[in-house]
Amino acid sequence: MASMDKDWKARLSPERYQILRLKGTEPAFSGDLLDVHDDGIFRCAGCGAQLFDSEDKFESGSGWPSFTRAIDEGVIVTEIDTSHAMTRTEIMCASCGGHLGHVFDDGPAPTGMRYCVNSLSLIFDPSSASS
Ligand SMILES: [Zn+2]
Repeated sequence: MASMDKDWKARLSPERYQILRLKGTEPAFSGDLLDVHDDGIFRCAGCGAQLFDSEDKFESGSGWPSFTRAIDEGVIVTEIDTSHAMTRTEIMCASCGGHLGHVFDDGPAPTGMRYCVNSLSLIFDPSSASS
């Protein structure tokens, strides 16, 4: 696993590495993708997997990009996170295990879920075929 870790360090910027591999959290309202409202797909910054659709993005006021659901079943895995004296549900990319953020059950209809994601965990892929 040590070599794997070195590989991620070489491939990711220090900022992205801190979030994706060390489960860091970017400061609220600091992310580049917070105010992105164009049509497109949000991909994992670690492996490029499609994770979220811009259609499911909403303004949560939390300071982090927020989505009501993942783009597809199985693209995101969850794990109970008890760090920082809280019990939260961590969300990770199912393909590479990269840390994305957390999911909460206080989101808007129809899902009632709020996927709270670090901008640094994502790469925005604008849709070329937007209608
Ligand atoms: Zn990934």
